[in-house]
Amino acid sequence: MKTINDFNFENKKALIRVDFNVPLNENFEVTDATRIQAAKPTIIKVLEDGGSAVLMSHLGRPQGVQDEFSLKHIADDISDILGVQVKYVADCVGQEAEDAVAALSPGEVLLLENLRFHTSETKGDVTFAEQLSKLGDIYVNDAFGTAHRAHASTTIVAQFFADNKCFGSLLAKEIESIDKVLSSGEKPVTAVLGGSKVSSKITIIENILDKVDHLIIGGGMTYTFVKAQGGQIGDSICEDDKQELALEILKKAEEKGVQIHLPVDVLGADAFDNDANTKVVAVNAIPEGWQGLDAGPETIKNFHEVILNSKTILWNGPLGVFEMENFAKGTIALGNSIVEATEKGAFSLVGGGDSVAAVKQFGFGSKVSYVSTGGGAMLESLEGKTLPGIAAIEK
Ligand code: AMP
Repeated sequence: MKTINDFNFENKKALIRVDFNVPLNENFEVTDATRIQAAKPTIIKVLEDGGSAVLMSHLGRPQGVQDEFSLKHIADDISDILGVQVKYVADCVGQEAEDAVAALSPGEVLLLENLRFHTSETKGDVTFAEQLSKLGDIYVNDAFGTAHRAHASTTIVAQFFADNKCFGSLLAKEIESIDKVLSSGEKPVTAVLGGSKVSSKITIIENILDKVDHLIIGGGMTYTFVKAQGGQIGDSICEDDKQELALEILKKAEEKGVQIHLPVDVLGADAFDNDANTKVVAVNAIPEGWQGLDAGPETIKNFHEVILNSKTILWNGPLGVFEMENFAKGTIALGNSIVEATEKGAFSLVGGGDSVAAVKQFGFGSKVSYVSTGGGAMLESLEGKTLPGIAAIEK
């Protein structure tokens, strides 16, 4: 894997694909700068080598040129975070952009305008990618969030850089973390899959059954498995047409020697409401009119034991409806177990959608080994797909 550490950027211009698709409020102020912070180490390495950085990103989903999606709004935020006054140019290709790049001195940073102001970007247009390639000597991809897209700036542009292309430190860290979970991590390896639906996680489950020792299944997915096994799930969420699939997964896991851990008890509620009446019930004896909305105390204890005996942990998806305070306990307890295992030396990766939100909400972010920055890209990696943005650098 070629990373920025394999290059010396002295007197070089690095064309860096970053993911600055940050949330803005109505005054165009950045409300969460995590993604800018995450790209900082790569940019600083280039500058400290004596090079200059040309930053390209998309922001939102503009229809053509729309001022509200202009990256000029975030130039000052980037300057503050980098500690370097960032220059801005009002297009990402063409003479104006090329002139701005030519005028860059070592130690300087130039921010190009939103890539998606050109429809050629998402189409992966080769001519557009070639125009982009004129804006740097070395191409650096540090945008994991878009690595699953074969867009001009994330994938196609790489073909114009022969050997002068590499991963930024953020993307390298993402690749390393996924690799630890899927192949090189210390055993026992445990995956926790929660969330609402079997159907959205099935490809991940199939892919990781070959890689893990333990699979913890929680959240809304639980009930499809329990019903398939003949349990009473009351009004709990269930995908009836996925019951057979659930049984197949259990069978395959057994054949492969993977231990599956399902909840044994749940916190039942008489409505999908934070203020509903609740009681702890066995997962396979949920009365009519009640639904399981969180893991129960026995389950939390069982999962804790599995997690603490693991050396490599992947967490994707909450154990309950964590958005409601009264059904967040299982997810918080799981987070605490993963933090404790991490303190004892396990490697823990949290990735993909809602588990990242939960980890941030409950303050586990800095206490696990790594929190992925890419939702869709992370899920596709776990499904075993080769991401085009990653393949383009490795080619
Ligand atoms: P996903 O996007 O598939 O990872 O699912 C995340 C969503 O699953 C969250 O919004 C949770 O509220 C929801 N969820 C977790 N457990 C349950 C459950 N027992 N019943 C209904 N929804 C759930």
